[in-house]
Amino acid sequence: MIVLRVALLPLLLALACVTAFPRQAHAAPLDYDITAGHFYSQANGEAGAGGSGFSVTDKDGIAFWSEFQRLGGVAVLGYPISHRFIWKGTVVQAFQKVVMQWQPATASVSFVNIFDELRDAGKDEWLKVVCSTPKQVWLENESSLGWSEVARQRQAFLDVNPKIKAAYFAVADPVMMFGLPASRVEDMGNAFVVRLQRAVIQQWKVNTPWAKAGEVTIANGGDIGKQSGILPADALQPSGPDGAVAVPQAIAPASGARTVVIDPGHGDKEIGASYRFADGVVLLEKDINLKIAQRVATLLRGAGYRVVLTRDADVAVNRTGADLNGDGKVTADDDLQARIDIANKEKANVLVSVHNNGHPSPDQHGTEVYYNDKRPFASKNLRLAQILQRSLVSSLASAGYNTLDRGIRTDASIKQGESFYILGPQGKRIARSSEMPAALGESLFVSNPTDAAQLRSDTMIQAIARGYAVGISQFLSTDS
Ligand SMILES: [Zn+2]
Repeated sequence: MIVLRVALLPLLLALACVTAFPRQAHAAPLDYDITAGHFYSQANGEAGAGGSGFSVTDKDGIAFWSEFQRLGGVAVLGYPISHRFIWKGTVVQAFQKVVMQWQPATASVSFVNIFDELRDAGKDEWLKVVCSTPKQVWLENESSLGWSEVARQRQAFLDVNPKIKAAYFAVADPVMMFGLPASRVEDMGNAFVVRLQRAVIQQWKVNTPWAKAGEVTIANGGDIGKQSGILPADALQPSGPDGAVAVPQAIAPASGARTVVIDPGHGDKEIGASYRFADGVVLLEKDINLKIAQRVATLLRGAGYRVVLTRDADVAVNRTGADLNGDGKVTADDDLQARIDIANKEKANVLVSVHNNGHPSPDQHGTEVYYNDKRPFASKNLRLAQILQRSLVSSLASAGYNTLDRGIRTDASIKQGESFYILGPQGKRIARSSEMPAALGESLFVSNPTDAAQLRSDTMIQAIARGYAVGISQFLSTDS
């Protein structure tokens, strides 16, 4: 758990709702023709690295590829983010902006009203927290109005905000792309927001890391459907064009001398997050973090890596209680400074801090990895976080737990622009920063009953450890 100011969550977590378009990661072609379709690796979670991705095809008489091209392709619909799969009795495929649904009667596609699906799946509260999305509202006697009258009245919701209205009508066919407005334009605190049937449009009132005050952003339906956990995890797992899953599963052996420093978060009086089960058992984050870290060390040592743990028992790392950062007081910051100093002294190639999450709301659950984007080696931090995120999620899935993939986040996104001590650059608060790429993993939420139950299971602890070990080895074996 990273201590945060809870009131900031709606703003800060909303970052996750802004679609980041994948950047060109390497020279190999990111997409190419295959039999009866096209293969795209751009939205594979690693900006195309590794070459896995999703095919869009006309196979089995389901003309997703033809329809994708007819409707405007990547420019209009975004990249594919899932394989095709059967959902509620129809064949669908998710793209960044929309979820395509095959209509056998007309041999064409329509788009799923993903925000209606999210409402029906009980995700309105999640949408409010993560995307500042208002709830759906109904018109008076809506069911007795004709479609065009419903459309007229619902589109009139946008009149109060010309910028949001302009963004809605800026696409060629707003009703097809976005559906109708499902809510009025609501003041959600940090932004004016309208919920559409297939997207959310936000106009920001404050400067954020992703938009200036006054700017309008669109949170895309496909991406949010994926993030929400309502789509099946295996359909979202990228694979090769032949359908073979290409998620890294093996621990790559060390090539040459490689030192990994694993930092089990908290220790001694710093317990981190905690959970009390009905049977009286209490789970402490500091204990789980240590157990995971020790297993990561065993797995990596077995593959030839030199591994140093910042603590190998339930102790503080700043054992002598020294003022290590020289700010005139001894606080938790000094304990974090001690961890950084170990990584630097050991000349680690990579530093990974192992945590599990906590939140005042027991509903919050899932897996996320933090990185710092303000370092000279920020792109390596990003790549490490991406690989760890994917590896943790897939390792948990193969152990039988489909954790919610909350994605990667910058540390500044949760601490109001401030870096995490363990990840950030040297500055006013951080006396000495780490000198190697680093990331901080929050494998599951100790504060969520379902996640906490997994953390009691030896199989899942091992799966998390394996996720870290596979990810770290993949990062180091492909690090230039
Ligand atoms: Zn923690």
